[in-house]
Amino acid sequence: MNDGLFARARELFPGGVNSPVRAFGAVGGTPRFVTRAEGAYVWDADGVKRIDYVSSWGAIILGHAVSEIVEAISSAAGRGTSYGAPTPGEIALAERIQAAMPSVERMRFTCSGTEAVMSAVRLARAHTGRSKILKFAGCYHGHADSLLTAAGSGVATMGLPGSAGVTADATRDTLVAPYNDLDSVSELFDRFGDQLAAVLLEPVAANMGLVLPKPGFLELLREQTSAHHALLVFDEVITGFRVAPGGAQERYDVTPDLTCLGKVIGGGLPVGAFGGRADIMALVAPEGPMYQAGTLSGNPLAMAAGEATLARLTDRDVFDRLEEQTTRLAAGLGEAIDAGPHAGRASVATIGSLLTLFWTPRPPTSFAEAQAGDGEAFASFFHAMLDRGVSLPPSPYEAWFVTLAHGAGEVDATLAAAREALA
Ligand SMILES: *Cc1c(COP(=O)(O)O)cnc(C)c1O
Repeated sequence: MNDGLFARARELFPGGVNSPVRAFGAVGGTPRFVTRAEGAYVWDADGVKRIDYVSSWGAIILGHAVSEIVEAISSAAGRGTSYGAPTPGEIALAERIQAAMPSVERMRFTCSGTEAVMSAVRLARAHTGRSKILKFAGCYHGHADSLLTAAGSGVATMGLPGSAGVTADATRDTLVAPYNDLDSVSELFDRFGDQLAAVLLEPVAANMGLVLPKPGFLELLREQTSAHHALLVFDEVITGFRVAPGGAQERYDVTPDLTCLGKVIGGGLPVGAFGGRADIMALVAPEGPMYQAGTLSGNPLAMAAGEATLARLTDRDVFDRLEEQTTRLAAGLGEAIDAGPHAGRASVATIGSLLTLFWTPRPPTSFAEAQAGDGEAFASFFHAMLDRGVSLPPSPYEAWFVTLAHGAGEVDATLAAAREALA
């Protein structure tokens, strides 16, 4: 059944998928077509049930098909699926975001994280009248041309196009520095500080595997951007409402000028948002001269799903529970590594409800270190877990996403599978 679906899908979609990492390119084999999900579990087209840690790449935080979200969506759908006019639902979701993230004084909803970051970059350029953006190797910000730049390993470097079809002009103004490299950042500010519109980063990087900011890294970026009148833009598409109610900016107590959101705030429906200082957001059309728009932006179904999700995340106990299970899972994986033949070859990084099992001796602090991981060992581990009923993200450069539906039973079952897979 599953193999048949993949054969048909390959006739229709490049690689058989509608987003590349789903194709199992990094691990080999046939991607499992999902037909149903509930709580912490997904079922594939052959009827096999597995514990899910993909969680729609982090968009799912309460668990799959949670009744209040399903009800919020169907109730909204019954009132019409899209109007092309403002709705009360946009206000309800925006007020919840603002309450959790006070730096987001004003915001705009989009349909994806890509659009949110692309718009935030345009806004930073509009506000500063400058062209250059500094990003970090291994941080993913969606697929806008100017942000698809390859990483210069170890050395701060001018961005080179990281995809066919991206012109050199499109990335000419994108500078790339190694994540967590304070010296490179200082050097780049010395050279380009007065040309920089913004520094853009994932304040906790989760797209090169989970890489935490070193002490002082976010603070340095805040100081340098302020000193040079550039904007600090946090891409919290993953970390927002996941590492703390107020995202990484709350957890690390560093306040950006602009924030990008997505994933969790849509409760599994397509959404994104960018927002921040009111004086900067006043530049966005129709109030200001920076154009930005979307036919389905603020879609009523997405707003309803997002609001129902954030309504459950106001309570700090919820985050404590998420983090407790994730910490137990991370510790158990660490013990399973140490007890097996791979001791000293793998390591675990974790924060909030995110974790990555790296095939490196220690958790990496940069993309270059993450890239040194053993890809073959990752692929074997991935398939051993899949065969034992656990669905992990099919790439070494991703985080596992724990949800509220992952209880002690699911964590124990995952650890039992991991002990076998690592033996
Ligand atoms: C997923 C992601 C994006 C892009 O969001 P899409 O909704 O996939 O367009 C941007 N930034 C980060 C940090 C992400 O993880």
